[in-house]
Amino acid sequence: MRLVLVGPPGAGKGTQAQFLASHYGVPHISTGDIFRANLKENTALGQEAKGYMDAGQLVPDSVTNAMVKDRLTWEDAANGFLLDGFPRNVVQAEVLRAILAEKRTPLDAVLELSIPNDLIIGRLSSRRTCRACGAPSGPEATACSACGGVDLYQREDDKAEVIAKRLDVYEEQTAPIIHFYRTEGLLITIDADGEIAEITERATSALARVKA
Ligand code: AMP
Repeated sequence: MRLVLVGPPGAGKGTQAQFLASHYGVPHISTGDIFRANLKENTALGQEAKGYMDAGQLVPDSVTNAMVKDRLTWEDAANGFLLDGFPRNVVQAEVLRAILAEKRTPLDAVLELSIPNDLIIGRLSSRRTCRACGAPSGPEATACSACGGVDLYQREDDKAEVIAKRLDVYEEQTAPIIHFYRTEGLLITIDADGEIAEITERATSALARVKA
């Protein structure tokens, strides 16, 4: 399965990506997680990305596209992948299409998680992130449900002032890829409001119709 997950920040992409990647046996490739890992290690890439991330803006395409192109050459992505947080604009979508066309491995589907804006703000401002594995948790969690890590923190960009900026960036730059993928005949939209398991079920049922 070669899948892209799209949706505004706070739609639950990270959470669903973990379940879906394990369901399909493909790696979960999150560009946000890769950037955060680089920030933590203080690499040159991390230093370059930091200012953009803290401000809720997109890291420049040249940096992001090269990083994804490299990640897709890894052995674990040979039989499929789940991309979460990429593409984030139409240029990135075109670059991804070109990378995959070269390998003759086109996308199977693009899953859009649809959710109203008022729910997003509440979710993001109460979200905590695991410092060890990057998985998101709710505000009451004392340990990460994915890896058991107990160091849960609030991402700099989940603070109220940055959330508004991220939503603007989504509307202006990322929402146009919905149209791009609808035109390509790849778009599947599901309602992302509800219990986590319920949404995973909606996603796998919708995707079962695309590819057995
Ligand atoms: P995320 O964890 O997906 O919400 O990403 C966190 C931040 O990483 C974003 O607000 C951007 O600053 C940066 N980022 C992640 N993915 C991309 C991308 N595809 N293009 C540009 N910047 C990105």
